[in-house]
Amino acid sequence: MTDWSPRTKLVHGGVRRSHYGETSEAIYLTQGFVYPDAETAERRFISSGEDEFIYARYGNPTTRMFEDRIAALEGAEAAFATASGMAAVYAALTCQLQAGDHVVSSRALFGSCLYIAETILPRFGVEVSFVDGTDLEQWRAAVRQGTKLVFFETMSNPTLEVIDIAGVAEIAHAAGAKVVVDNVFPTPVFQRSLALGADIVVYSATKHIDGQGRCLGGVVLGTEEFIRGPFETFVKHTGGALSPFNAWVMLKGLETLDLRCRAQAETAAAIADALPGTPGLARLIYPGLPDHPQAEVMKRQMETGGTMLALEIEGGKAGAFRFLDALEIVRISNNLGDAKSLITHPATTTHQRLTPEQRAALGISDGLVRLSVGLEDGDDLIADLKRALESV
Ligand SMILES: *Cc1c(COP(=O)(O)O)cnc(C)c1O
Repeated sequence: MTDWSPRTKLVHGGVRRSHYGETSEAIYLTQGFVYPDAETAERRFISSGEDEFIYARYGNPTTRMFEDRIAALEGAEAAFATASGMAAVYAALTCQLQAGDHVVSSRALFGSCLYIAETILPRFGVEVSFVDGTDLEQWRAAVRQGTKLVFFETMSNPTLEVIDIAGVAEIAHAAGAKVVVDNVFPTPVFQRSLALGADIVVYSATKHIDGQGRCLGGVVLGTEEFIRGPFETFVKHTGGALSPFNAWVMLKGLETLDLRCRAQAETAAAIADALPGTPGLARLIYPGLPDHPQAEVMKRQMETGGTMLALEIEGGKAGAFRFLDALEIVRISNNLGDAKSLITHPATTTHQRLTPEQRAALGISDGLVRLSVGLEDGDDLIADLKRALESV
């Protein structure tokens, strides 16, 4: 399987076929497992084999198929699925931290990731330093000998800044720190963070992996030693396991992930090409454009500009609201990575909790909107966006 190309891995990777020979993967909707005899139960509690399960909080055949399939795509030794993206982020960080440890994180984080780094970790005696993730000098200044972890999202939400994974990894590794990357925005199709130097990669599978807005889920990838060691131990005792039904949805989502992400990215690039110059649009941010501030890093680490855009609408909040309310195809939602194009006004929703100063520091103006491009026809989307811009 290792020499299969990504698309083949996404269709066949991790399959565990039962004696019925089913074509499509089975949903093992079971909490537990029975043993043929007491001796087997005893032995399995000492050490479970590759295809032996105990309890769905520890592992389940359908969940394992999802984990093995995404691990095959990423070229990771192992993966562990979680109930949501936040369960994945929380466990990936917490399972390896204790009081007195030091963490360096980029400042531009998904709201709940910021809450963990800024509020929860310090409560348990972990010191967290924040940096502008795009500035390697700031990482160099903040990481010190003994720093345990560095954490960042690239591209960042919602301003789509790109962080140099290899550059940060070099700084972190020199100090003995592990690198944890939230890879949701670039998707596993367009960016292989492990290959670029990350030690641990985290996904909200809720986004592109499901891709059709149905289930919450998450997954963490890394070495066999990390996943089967501290990570699995933490999750199995704290209860963040993914439901087997949701795992099945994610598993089937992987089969079409490459096709969907490529179609969505192609449309995103067409929108980035078509919209500039339209009255009402002050600025368009798309990581695939040559004028993106980190265009050089982009070219090195991402295969396309991805499926997300940020638009600065003229007229501040009022202008942005008129634009959103005039859209007919693109729907207003804080979610992303869906088959349906979704748009959000971060200043009044996902980033409402921040002070105006904090928002300004992150480049989140009152006119900024974030667009997640779906699977609709590109020309229809461009017409919808242009018409709505005219109403601004
Ligand atoms: C959505 C998201 C999460 C959280 O995932 P959930 O599945 O909603 O818990 C974390 N990081 C990023 C970048 C996200 O977009």
